[in-house]
Amino acid sequence: MVPLGPDSFHHVYLPGQEAQPARRARRCLLKDCERWYEPARPQSRYCSGNCAAAARRWRQVKASRAYRASDNGRKRRREQNRRYRRRRRERAATSASADVPVSCEGQRPASGDENFVGRMCDRPGCYTVFVVKNEHACQRFCSVACRLALRRVLDREARYQQRRRRWRRERWTRRRHPPNTS
Ligand SMILES: [Zn+2]
Ligand SMILES: [Zn+2]
Repeated sequence: MVPLGPDSFHHVYLPGQEAQPARRARRCLLKDCERWYEPARPQSRYCSGNCAAAARRWRQVKASRAYRASDNGRKRRREQNRRYRRRRRERAATSASADVPVSCEGQRPASGDENFVGRMCDRPGCYTVFVVKNEHACQRFCSVACRLALRRVLDREARYQQRRRRWRRERWTRRRHPPNTS
């Protein structure tokens, strides 16, 4: 048996392997990707164009869900239902001689489930839907992992904005009060 010397461990840290992320590296925000990558721009959130596109698709799904859940969407659906019923009534009236029973109209399932609503996770790429008590409930994420992933990114972006503001302010004061070099 070969004794385990320091040489035996060299293969663990082969150069070029993904073992240690570079200093500027960050994690892709997209759920189920989370790859380490080197951002090209300070505010980048995703490792690749593919992940950015996946996040855009996710946002569309999220937005249309939110719209359907919103008062606006509900009002529109109510109007659609009303129009539908009116058309049915008119049709029934024109064929009144055929004795069409009008009583069965409006027999849709009652919407008594307003107390519990399904909500989609706020983390880009996460389609998990969880149940909250009502639309004012404050839970926004399906899990702690998703909550922390977005928190990390928002904190980083806030720090970046802060640095930019400070930098602009300093540049502005330097321009108004140039250092006395005489
Ligand atoms: Zn990614
Ligand atoms: Zn989630």
